Amino acid sequence: MSSVLVTGATGFIASRIIEQLLQKGHHVRGTVRSLGKERELVPLRMLPHAEARLELVEADLLTDGAFDAAAQGCDHVLHTASPYVLDAKDPQRDLVDPAVKGTRNVLEAAARAGVRRVVLTSSMAAVTDEPDGDHVLTEADWNTKSSLERNPYYLSKTLAERAAWDFVAANKPSFDLVVINPFLVIGPSITPGLNTSNQLFVDLLAGTYPGIMNLTWGFVDVRDVARAHVLAMETEGAKGRYLCAGETIGMRSMVQLLDEHGFREGYKLPKLGMDCAMGDFAVRLSSYLQPRGVGSYLRTHIGRVPRYDTSKIQRELGLSFRPVQTSILDTLADLARAGHLPARA
Ligand code: NDP
Repeated sequence: MSSVLVTGATGFIASRIIEQLLQKGHHVRGTVRSLGKERELVPLRMLPHAEARLELVEADLLTDGAFDAAAQGCDHVLHTASPYVLDAKDPQRDLVDPAVKGTRNVLEAAARAGVRRVVLTSSMAAVTDEPDGDHVLTEADWNTKSSLERNPYYLSKTLAERAAWDFVAANKPSFDLVVINPFLVIGPSITPGLNTSNQLFVDLLAGTYPGIMNLTWGFVDVRDVARAHVLAMETEGAKGRYLCAGETIGMRSMVQLLDEHGFREGYKLPKLGMDCAMGDFAVRLSSYLQPRGVGSYLRTHIGRVPRYDTSKIQRELGLSFRPVQTSILDTLADLARAGHLPARA
């Protein structure tokens, strides 16, 4: 069994990765920004086998050399830590710097420690800035449009992944790099916080959306994303990037699913049909009244259906995806359990 460093251990995705690594018998060292955040750490410490095989240490992405000690003695590094917010006050400082400098910091530590493989959590955000008409996205695609003004979170993920591939090309380190590019990750959470992607469901029930908009999402369950990381680490022949996404679902089908499962009563599930040309126009116009990051997301995604080919991850890593309806309903049940859903009227 391996010793594995997982960065950003309290994260939505990282905590599921740690759960699965422990389940498979690996030893895990997880990094957190602060060991003082007891509320976030308790669920990790309570995972099966954590007492015997999970160690938590502090490391900040922005501190040079912060991961050096943590990487010592590890066979593999799974680098998931990166800020995930759509709207940042200062996108360079709050998104790009931690993503890019953090990635370099972690890779330098991995190289110095002589680890065998690094699995990097990138994103579909590094593949495309906006769904692209009929073009079917593959691992060969790169986001070339995002900027500090336009989808800055997407820019941070693109630059971080580029920095990782550049590091490997320039330094020929001991490890090989494998990259996972997940779409919007949903699912039940181990840690108590509300993840940015699961926020979507809270917004749908809270009446944040004035109507059913022409938005289509590519979802992937957090348990499948975690499995992708573990398989990428364990599969000898894993190589390059892997798009990681299940089915797409449009807002209208999603609202219908929630309606059918009792989420209309007492909630503000949208009713007004805005999934038409007039609706798209209204959303585009009103997007300028939204916070900058949310506004640019709406303008680049309204009326567009993402298309992607995930055959590489299915073929090479043997990953299969849960049906999207199962993930959505599991997510809602978990959000209700955690007290994140708005109160029913
Ligand atoms: P979370 O916000 O739950 O986790 C992000 C983690 O990054 C947290 O543990 C956070 O630590 C850590 N982090 C942020 N800034 C710093 C810093 N300066 N120093 C150290 N740690 C830091 O997000 P997710 O689990 O959703 O995301 C994990 C990864 O997956 C990210 O790289 C994200 O870009 C990527 N991703 C996520 C998708 C999604 O839909 N959720 C989709 C595609 C990719 P702390 O708890 O201290 O804040």
